[in-house]
Amino acid sequence: MEKIYDILIIGGGVGGMSAAVYAKRRGKSVAVIEKFALGGQLNMINEIENFPSHKNIDGITLAKEFADQVKKFEIDVIFDEVQSVDFSGDVKVLNGKKNVYKSKSVIIATGVKSKEIGVNENDFLGRGVSFCAVCDANFYKGKDVCVASENGKGLKGAMELSELCNSVTLLDSGNLSAFAKVNKNEKIMVISNASVKRVLGQFKVEKLAVSVGGQEQEIAADALFIELGKIPATDIFKGQLRLDDQGFIVTDERMHTSAKEVYAIGDVRSGVLKQIVTACSDGAVAGQFACQK
Ligand SMILES: Cc1cc2nc3c(=O)[nH]c(=O)nc-3n(C[C@H](O)[C@H](O)[C@H](O)COP(=O)(O)OP(=O)(O)OC[C@H]3O[C@@H](n4cnc5c(N)ncnc54)[C@H](O)[C@@H]3O)c2cc1C
Repeated sequence: MEKIYDILIIGGGVGGMSAAVYAKRRGKSVAVIEKFALGGQLNMINEIENFPSHKNIDGITLAKEFADQVKKFEIDVIFDEVQSVDFSGDVKVLNGKKNVYKSKSVIIATGVKSKEIGVNENDFLGRGVSFCAVCDANFYKGKDVCVASENGKGLKGAMELSELCNSVTLLDSGNLSAFAKVNKNEKIMVISNASVKRVLGQFKVEKLAVSVGGQEQEIAADALFIELGKIPATDIFKGQLRLDDQGFIVTDERMHTSAKEVYAIGDVRSGVLKQIVTACSDGAVAGQFACQK
């Protein structure tokens, strides 16, 4: 017989794991569906200083502590990517890549994802293209790298990369001439009004076709770091839930969305502060109220 969970949670970041612990302790059948790795964004953080009870901890260690607690309560963790949803009936349907899942309530904890350029960058993922300077800088020690940036969003990443790489070319779609004038970092070259048109290479990144002020040119590079900011992971909920003008899910103070028995928590929710502690707090609230069904 097909299983209908009391509560399915989409996303195994800190928000999703917190909600799962709250709901499971109330005796509900709960599963977390995660497409990549438990911990979500925590897996990209070198150092956390503002999570209460830990003076200083790295993201991977903290993620493991959350995951250990999920394991202790014997919460089902399903590794799959939810690709579409149907929230219209009393039984909610989540269509994953591998399976279909059903539940009485759903908690959405899908967080945020990196904004893409929208050319062929995904063909070179892990072969020179990265969406996380903090995570992957180490692989390009002594190499020449480029950063795709929008109105200065890539500056922080460029600074971090310059500590390890031979050279960093910051390709910004806006005008960073003021920064370029005062920039004392000899390893960073800033090019304004620039956008990446294509990633070029046989197997890995070798060159970039770039438009600079409307003129196309090629720039040799060992890697391209894409630092265009984050957007909410809500594509699969469009048309089913009320979203704000930036695409975040709108909820009430109980984390309830515009669809019956569907909750949203953490970074994906329209809210003022997006941090670990607020994602956990949202998870506690949703975990509690989803149990009232
Ligand atoms: C570099 C960096 C440094 C940071 N530093 C701090 C800090 O020092 N202190 C602090 O408090 N916060 C910090 N943050 C912010 C903090 O990490 C986030 O606010 C928090 O982790 C959000 O948790 P979340 O559970 O809402 O979402 P996420 O961590 O984004 O988790 C969402 C999860 O959902 C999964 N998912 C998405 N879509 C699907 C789908 N369709 N199917 C299945 N699974 C899906 C993803 O794979 C992911 O695991 C930092 C973030 C970054 C990137």
